[in-house]
Amino acid sequence: MHPIIDLRSDTITRPTPEMRRAMAEAEVGDDVYDDDPSINRLQALSAEILGKEAALFVPTGTMSNSIAIKTHTQPGDEILLDGEAHSMLYEVGLPAIVSGVLTRQFISHKGIPDVADIVSKFQEESLHSPRTSLLILENTHNRSGGVVIPVDVQRKLWEQAQQHGVKVHIDGARLFNAAIASGKSPSEFAQYADTVTFCLSKGLGCPVGSVLCGSHGFISRAKRVRKMLGGGMRQAGILAAAGIYALENNVQRLAEDHANAKRLAEGLNGTPGIHLEEEVPPTNMIYFRTDALAESLITAMEAHGVIASTVSAYRIRLVTHLDVDAQDIERTIEVIKDVATACH
Ligand SMILES: *Cc1c(COP(=O)(O)O)cnc(C)c1O
Repeated sequence: MHPIIDLRSDTITRPTPEMRRAMAEAEVGDDVYDDDPSINRLQALSAEILGKEAALFVPTGTMSNSIAIKTHTQPGDEILLDGEAHSMLYEVGLPAIVSGVLTRQFISHKGIPDVADIVSKFQEESLHSPRTSLLILENTHNRSGGVVIPVDVQRKLWEQAQQHGVKVHIDGARLFNAAIASGKSPSEFAQYADTVTFCLSKGLGCPVGSVLCGSHGFISRAKRVRKMLGGGMRQAGILAAAGIYALENNVQRLAEDHANAKRLAEGLNGTPGIHLEEEVPPTNMIYFRTDALAESLITAMEAHGVIASTVSAYRIRLVTHLDVDAQDIERTIEVIKDVATACH
């Protein structure tokens, strides 16, 4: 059990001693010259796992999405994305600033996009209209509760997008959670997209890093955009070594995070003043509505050593990860039940 139980995000994980050892022992070189053996290995391994031709190591998921958008589009194009997507809400307006694109939003049902609705939004360039050049899908979908967009939905969208000349990018910050939760391989999801990015710095437990995967042609153009954005790193193999370690050791264990989330939801279900959005969380996130102000509940929880984030005035998110164990979950259930009853 940890003295402070931090459920704000799966980004808060710290590298384990084994991961730190892999980092300390990493072979490195100047990656701008393609000379870093650890980065080259991470990129080859990532491309292989996702079934893509090539991959690019980048500092953050935000930069990865930005590079993908800029590489796939021309200024003045339109991109389609969920109104609750990370690229829409949490990337500081980068699609507008870096790529000069219009962001057109669609509404999904609990994170699952409606194929017909999206197809009806695809626009060809005309005297009046911008061209829709890119569709972004977020899998798993954070703001919808860590929902997995099923492979089948992705396939339908992909087929339609191809017919309309629209590229598809998956913001797979938590693609490995989607894969583990659905019993599919990451490449089954990735096959229905031109490009995919995933985060090493979330459930996989690395301190830094994301990987962008796609065709050889796309990745060589993306590399130039990465340089333009200041993401050309040098002896960053120390960071890539953590990524290799994570891909080899921390993927299967995501199932524990999912089991912990399920247990947490089960323990909280029926607590007065708390309304779970999903009784069975799809992956490693739990969202619930509160009768009391979320902020007052969070403050009371913190006094008992449990940290979480408010999402809106009456909505709280809890995220399970590598640095939360089964005992922490039991403690969290007790604390939330106590404070919710006191606030009720
Ligand atoms: C975390 C996250 C990102 C990238 O975040 P960074 O903090 O920039 O690495 C992108 N998309 C989703 C859905 C995320 O959750």
